[in-house]
Amino acid sequence: MTAVQTQLSSSAPACLADVREVVRQRWGYNSFRPLQQEAIESVLAGRDSLLVLPTGGGKSLCFQAPACCLPGVAIVVSPLIALMKDQVDALTANGVSAAFYNSTLSAAGRRRVVEDLRADKLSLLYLAPESLLTDQLLTLLASINISMFAIDEAHCVSSWGHDFRPEYRGLKVLRQRFPGVAFHAYTATATERVQQDIVAQLKLSDPEVLIGSYDRPNLSYQVAQRNNGLNQILEVIGRHPSGSGIIYCITRKDVESTTAALEALGHRVVAYHAGMDEQARRQNQEAFLTEEVEIMVATVAFGMGIDKSNVRYVIHAAVPKSLEAYQQESGRAGRDGLKAECCLFYSGGDFAKWRILMQKSGEGESGELAALEGIEQFCSTPRCRHQLLVEHFGQALDQANCQACDVCLGQFDEVDQPLIVAQKILSCVARLEQQYGADYTSQVLAGSQEQRILQKGHNRLSTYGLLSDHTRTTIRHWIDQLVAQGFAKRVGEYQQLHLTDLGWQVLKGERTPVLNQAKPSAHANPSNSKPLPASTSAAFVYFARQESLDDVAAKLGRAKSTVGGYLEQFIRHEQITDPTPWVEPAIIQRVQQAIAAVGNERLKPIFDHLAGEVPYELIRIVASCRANEVGE
Ligand code: ADP
Repeated sequence: MTAVQTQLSSSAPACLADVREVVRQRWGYNSFRPLQQEAIESVLAGRDSLLVLPTGGGKSLCFQAPACCLPGVAIVVSPLIALMKDQVDALTANGVSAAFYNSTLSAAGRRRVVEDLRADKLSLLYLAPESLLTDQLLTLLASINISMFAIDEAHCVSSWGHDFRPEYRGLKVLRQRFPGVAFHAYTATATERVQQDIVAQLKLSDPEVLIGSYDRPNLSYQVAQRNNGLNQILEVIGRHPSGSGIIYCITRKDVESTTAALEALGHRVVAYHAGMDEQARRQNQEAFLTEEVEIMVATVAFGMGIDKSNVRYVIHAAVPKSLEAYQQESGRAGRDGLKAECCLFYSGGDFAKWRILMQKSGEGESGELAALEGIEQFCSTPRCRHQLLVEHFGQALDQANCQACDVCLGQFDEVDQPLIVAQKILSCVARLEQQYGADYTSQVLAGSQEQRILQKGHNRLSTYGLLSDHTRTTIRHWIDQLVAQGFAKRVGEYQQLHLTDLGWQVLKGERTPVLNQAKPSAHANPSNSKPLPASTSAAFVYFARQESLDDVAAKLGRAKSTVGGYLEQFIRHEQITDPTPWVEPAIIQRVQQAIAAVGNERLKPIFDHLAGEVPYELIRIVASCRANEVGE
């Protein structure tokens, strides 16, 4: 009999030395990570606790190891049904007696678990709240010996958290039904408000609250405006040729087009989103975890509870919905403690997209919109990213320069004369009578000739074209920075810019904001002088393989006419002169004859000359190739 088994069968109360021994023998670890010992001591003392440790901090060990030493079974509540089997398999492989009970088990499988529980054979039982809170289960648990309740992903109980799950609210009944059992809550992300909510909702009694450091010094952060989505992603992947990485997109459609584009470029990649069936999701997850493929492209449906320690980069191809979500999702990089990078590519449109999604789902009222502003500030504030992240969770960072984010590594230049630039912007907001959003305002400042601006006579404003030396994207970025620093705010459904008191002080010259812009070399893709939008880049990959218009339209889920436009851009970009991959030879000949007759300047005369028998998208393709040929 091993030492551990001797201790387990002894009736003396378990102590820390027992747990150390179990950890050494079953997990092979010789030391604890920060706060693990304190958390384990709370469990051994039977005192309620709340442990907040960043992803990868080692929360599971804090209940799994003592559960092996305490009499009875530990009930682990987790929302992650899909991962329970893996978690239980990993424990079983370490020689720990564990089981899960959920809808994926057969009737016989469930019966076996119940028998094992009655026979006191299990150290841990994993359950989702909806299984636990059935009368049948509650009655069964009341008849056996329970060592503790471990509530994993405890932030799910709070509507202030980033992943509120109403079924978690039901857990409060456990306290009454099991008055003598201690409750331990575990989460990776909880602001102070969420922490208080967890304590209140789960009715924790005088809990030991243990909060780990939120900083992840081995992660480097880079935030850039998205100007050429796919190429920006490829650049990051290129820095980790055989490393594992996760790419997060907002929508399923974006997941699919990004996956297809990366696959077409020869990357080993799988997708994951809630629209896929259970089996496909499981297969893809396995392929990523076992390193059959390097890249996972996913919506936020992927990742919670995933134990893959060597993820070298996490890319957000669009903004996440809150800083909590960002901390959690980007935190999946570098759990092994080695260097890893987190890149966030955002655009103003992402925020609008989230606002619409939140309003549709009715979440807009529960603090979600405020949370979105947090990430908006993170994107546009020229301050250390590590600092901003830990401050959001109520902590501070000691060092002034983290040496691990784009701001501290000097990838931005401070703008010369920020007061004057800010005054130009804010006075334009005032001249527009605070009726317009950031995009429109930046167009006016850039001196755009857009129809809407001319129609409204805004080209006659004194502030029109005041910043015409700069791109609209740069001006837009400055506006975001002014909002982030409180000099203006966005109001109402249309996010119109309003000046704040601080903003008026800038106009009077009483305050000076900090404004910066990316250095010309930073965040740029050196190999591509003409940036392309993401959807176009994805289409280009297919066109390069000479795939037909119909096929590409189907793969991208876009109209044929839209994809025809991408193809025209591709033909011009690549200076292609031969339309045969996309148009039948007989039609090419007819269009060329029509061009010879009526010229290549406008499409309509060609269309008419062909008696409307050849669709515009085909005429466009032939005409673009012809234009390349004659050097137009
Ligand atoms: P969390 O649930 O906090 O995200 P996990 O419990 O999944 O983190 O642990 C993250 C990784 O760290 C796992 O691979 C785990 O085996 C490992 N780990 C946990 N505790 C220790 C320790 N004391 N020493 C070494 N590795 C540990």
